[in-house]
Amino acid sequence: MNITTLCIHGAEDNTHCTGSITVPIYQAATFVHPGVGESTGYDYSRLQNPTREQLEKIVAKLEKGADALAFSTGMAAIGALMELFKIEDHIIVSDDLYGGTHRLFHYISMKNGLSFSFVDTSDVSEVIKQVKKETKAIYIETPTNPMMQVTDIAAISKIAKENNLLLIVDNTFLTPYFQNPIDLGADIVIHSGTKYLSGHNDTLSGFIVTKTEELSEKLRFIHKTTGACLSPFDSWLMIRGIKTLAVRMEKQQENAMYLVNWLTHHPKIQSVYYVGLPSHPGYEISKKQARGFGSMISFKVDSEDTAIQLLNRVKLVLYAESLGGVETLITYPMLQTHADVPKEKREAKGIDERLLRLSVGLENIHDIIVDLQQALS
Ligand SMILES: *Cc1c(COP(=O)(O)O)cnc(C)c1O
Repeated sequence: MNITTLCIHGAEDNTHCTGSITVPIYQAATFVHPGVGESTGYDYSRLQNPTREQLEKIVAKLEKGADALAFSTGMAAIGALMELFKIEDHIIVSDDLYGGTHRLFHYISMKNGLSFSFVDTSDVSEVIKQVKKETKAIYIETPTNPMMQVTDIAAISKIAKENNLLLIVDNTFLTPYFQNPIDLGADIVIHSGTKYLSGHNDTLSGFIVTKTEELSEKLRFIHKTTGACLSPFDSWLMIRGIKTLAVRMEKQQENAMYLVNWLTHHPKIQSVYYVGLPSHPGYEISKKQARGFGSMISFKVDSEDTAIQLLNRVKLVLYAESLGGVETLITYPMLQTHADVPKEKREAKGIDERLLRLSVGLENIHDIIVDLQQALS
C-alpha cells in the first residue's frame, strides 16, 4: 500500500465492533483478567494500551520496521534507547545534534559511564576513524538541526555492518514520508513525534522503530520498565495527525522551496541552508536517499541587529521553539535549541548570533513572505 494511504488506513483495530471509523480512545489504566492466568492481551496500560498499540502499528508500517514503541516525548524515547548500552560502551554521534539529544548524551549518558565521539558524520572517513573495540553504535541525524548537514545513510550502514555496530537514525526532519532509514540499512529509527508526525503543535510524543523483533523485545522491556509511554489520548491525537502527513509534507515543502528562492534574493540574507538547493553540499546524497527535501530552512542574516529585529517584528510567523507543525515558526538556535551546547562548539558549527531557523508551515506562502518582508525592512 502507498504511504499516503497507510497514513490514513494503517490501523488494524479489531478490538471493537461498533464500526467506528476512528480508533477509540481506551482511557483505561488497567484491564480485567477473564480468569486466573488469563489475559485479554491487555493487562495494564504501561505495558500496552489498545489505542497506543494501533498508533505503534501505523508508525511501524510507515517506517518499515518490525515494531514501533510510542513514548511520551522524543527525549523519553532517546533516553530509553540509551538503556540498551552499559558502562564503557562507546557511541559515535553526529556533532550537529538536536540540542536536547546533545544534553542527554553529555550530561546524563556520560555520567552513567557511556562515552561518545562527536564527529561530522557527513564525512564517512571521519566516522571510520572513530571506531574502536568498545564502540557499539553510530547515532546520526540527517539532515541535521539546524545546519542541515546530510549524512549518507547507506555508506554509514556499511561501516556499521562491517564492525557489528547498531545504526540509529533520528528521522524527525524528513519523516517516513520522505525517507526510510531502515531501507537504507538502519537498525533503529528515532522520532520526535511532536514535530511533523503530529503536525499541529498540540502533542508531545516520541518513537523508537526497530528493524528486528529481537531489538523490539529488548526495547519493550525497557519501555515497560522505565515507563515513559504515550497516554491513550495523546496516542489518539497522533493517529489523527498522521492521517494528513502526506499532504502536509508535500505542501510544506512546496512553501519552503518558494521561500528559499525569496530568501536567497533578499539583500539582508547572506546565506541559506536548505538541502533542496543544488548548491547545498548534501544535495546529491539527499536526492539519492530521500524522496523530498522537507521544509526546514536555516539562514544567516547580515547582523545580530537584523536577527533580533526580525524576531521582534514577525507577526504571522511565530517566534517559538519546535518545528514541523502547520504554523510557520522561527527560532534562534543560539538561544533556544542550542543554548546548552558550549559556545566554541556551537560557533564552530556556524550556530551564531546571525543564524535563524524556519519551520515552514501551511499558511499561504504570500502571507508568510509579506510578514518576513515587513519584519526585515
Ligand atoms: C524535537 C526533537 C527531538 C526531541 O523530541 P521531543 O519530542 O521534543 O522530546 C529529538 N530530535 C530531533 C531532531 C528533534 O527535532
